[in-house]
Amino acid sequence: MLPIRKVTLRELRLPLVEAFAISTGTQAARRILLVEVTDAEGASGWAECVAPEHPNYLPETIDIAWLSLQEWLVPHLLSSGVAAPAPASRLLASVVRGHRMAKAALEMALWELEARQQGVSLSRLLGGTRAQVETGISIGIQSDPETLARKAQRHHAEGYRRIKLKIKPGADVRYVAAVREALGDEAPLSVDANASYRRNDVEALRALDRFGLAMLEQPLGWDDRRQHAALQAELRTPICLDESIRCLEHAQEAIELQSARIVNIKPGRVGGFGAAQAIHDLCQRHGVAVWCGGMLESGIGRAHNVALASLPNFVHPGDISPSRRYWERDIVNPEWTMANGVVDVPVHEPGMGVRVDLDRVDDLSVRQQVLDATAPRSRS
Ligand SMILES: [Mg+2]
Repeated sequence: MLPIRKVTLRELRLPLVEAFAISTGTQAARRILLVEVTDAEGASGWAECVAPEHPNYLPETIDIAWLSLQEWLVPHLLSSGVAAPAPASRLLASVVRGHRMAKAALEMALWELEARQQGVSLSRLLGGTRAQVETGISIGIQSDPETLARKAQRHHAEGYRRIKLKIKPGADVRYVAAVREALGDEAPLSVDANASYRRNDVEALRALDRFGLAMLEQPLGWDDRRQHAALQAELRTPICLDESIRCLEHAQEAIELQSARIVNIKPGRVGGFGAAQAIHDLCQRHGVAVWCGGMLESGIGRAHNVALASLPNFVHPGDISPSRRYWERDIVNPEWTMANGVVDVPVHEPGMGVRVDLDRVDDLSVRQQVLDATAPRSRS
């Protein structure tokens, strides 16, 4: 790959079409950090950092990620002359511990650039084999079971292949019962607790077994794999881990302990596509199914998720809703659309397969910083 000449960081504010509530908080707008890497000939690769505003998913936040990129990750990358994603990832891992969402954004932008340079789709560069990916939807916590059931019914009718309900203690069994009743026994349904239960809540969680859920996602602590193993042994419903799997070693441990039968892979959470591929391959060898979760991404992050979800062991529908589910207007062209519950993988387009709407990105940007190889910390 050609050397990287500059890296541009931008922060955007995109209002959500509807506020999204999970067990740890509610979001009405999304602060989005975009990373653009530009090579010596002026070609660009784009990615989106999934770090949220508050540390209520994992410790990392958008402000911490910005600082990490600006102060350490981008200067190290630019001064090294490394441009290919795998060596870049090794370099960043050797000089900065943690900060996986920030590292992922930079690494994934390099992948996108490499795909463009090679004239292949990001999906195929990653080893994707599908031309379409099945789409599920995640519904935030609602005020009451009836409201949730109505929303679930509407989204089910829209064609989503799996309905996921956010739950927390006190907003669980009655809510799930109402949705199961409204959708019928056959509709694929799952729940996500975002680490809001404790080990002694097993009775409440066991009560979910009767709903035939496809999975119970991250019921216990965000950094736990051991207690999940004990819980899985007591439940029929497959446990899926999300927050607890932030690197390949966590996935190895979860497989050894039998903490989960399913893993939700978000490339931003695990440090990028290289780690996502490794976890995908490991899970495939051990018969553990994976799927691609969402982090309220704009069309850029969505493009990366679509590419990843085209890999063969992504056997459950991903949280890859079309653009209109979240945004009045996306920041890419064409916007992401869904038909009959599937999203097309742009396998014939180089790179991520959608164009960044630069005018809209400029309009929405609230801060921007250009870091270049000669003066890594110069401000624009
Ligand atoms: Mg989750």
